Amino acid sequence: MIIVIAPDATEEQKKAVRDKIIELKYTPHEIQGVERQVIGAVGEDHGKEHLMEVLDSMPGVESVIPILKPYKLAGREIKSANSEVNCGGVIVGGPQIAVMAGPCSVESREQLSTTAQSIKKAGANILRGGAFKPRTSPYSFQGLEEEGLKLLKEAKELTGLPIVTEVMNPREADLVARYADVLQVGARNVQNFSLLKELGNIPKPILLKRGMMTTIKEFLMSAEYILSEGNKDVILCERGIRTFETATRNTLDLSCVPVLKKETHLPIIIDPSHGTGHWDLVEPMARASIAAGADGLMIEVHPDPINAYSDGPQSLKPSKFAHLMDNIRPFIKLMDRTL
Ligand code: PEP
Ligand code: MN
Repeated sequence: MIIVIAPDATEEQKKAVRDKIIELKYTPHEIQGVERQVIGAVGEDHGKEHLMEVLDSMPGVESVIPILKPYKLAGREIKSANSEVNCGGVIVGGPQIAVMAGPCSVESREQLSTTAQSIKKAGANILRGGAFKPRTSPYSFQGLEEEGLKLLKEAKELTGLPIVTEVMNPREADLVARYADVLQVGARNVQNFSLLKELGNIPKPILLKRGMMTTIKEFLMSAEYILSEGNKDVILCERGIRTFETATRNTLDLSCVPVLKKETHLPIIIDPSHGTGHWDLVEPMARASIAAGADGLMIEVHPDPINAYSDGPQSLKPSKFAHLMDNIRPFIKLMDRTL
């Protein structure tokens, strides 16, 4: 429920409201709106009516409104303004379009530094690269793990670009958080609720990828797991869902952008690399993503895609990526955004 605080409420009255919420086993979440301060009270549904009645009669409370959607903190009911997430100095969800680019997997110092410098030159603002890789086969390259995180840190020092990298396991969350500016949850882990809860307590932004079989409602409920633990910095990423179509690796659901914009205040970025699976389809879908109103892109770039350890067929060479950047600029301008 949303507790709208009266404009003339005293600090003591606000504290009494918060204490009452906690006493009745709910969690208060403070949200400073443009005009009003509100407190979100979330918890298990039973006992809700009682709490609403009690709060409604307390001094300093203007009104108590139930939240109808199941995603209490991710939804627009509790927060109508768009959320902005600070990713190591790059604000995602504001006027600037975030472009996260880099290799699928971190393979070597040389591969990463070449890629990082080229994407920076082309205008990307965040470096991506997997150190812990979720692979379909246990015999495929699993990532350089901590060594990969060290190389990402070096590349950050070299270019000044903040880094986003995947965390697969709650046990590795602290380790990844020591190196990364943004922690990525991959499509396969979107409903790994223990991981999501762990990340709700990490003081770093989380990039949450939609699963290949995840509905928009389920996707938002996964974001809710992170938010309800106290981490407000969640970015959603559409990366294609599974359909009967085989011409593309996945079906990039761009209609999720306007749907999510209606439902949630969280930023949404698009990954046309995993979304299509073919490098030549990445640029057209990147243009379409911007036109649909996405807040950013995630794009795989590799200096030698044919020899990439993972996702070579969907990776752009640096020159092709520079071309993509040039060709999305007019769309960014048209949408009244900046790069
Ligand atoms: C990736 O970003 O390299 C990745 C594994 O993505 P996804 O989880 O979307 O498949
Ligand atoms: Mn990949």
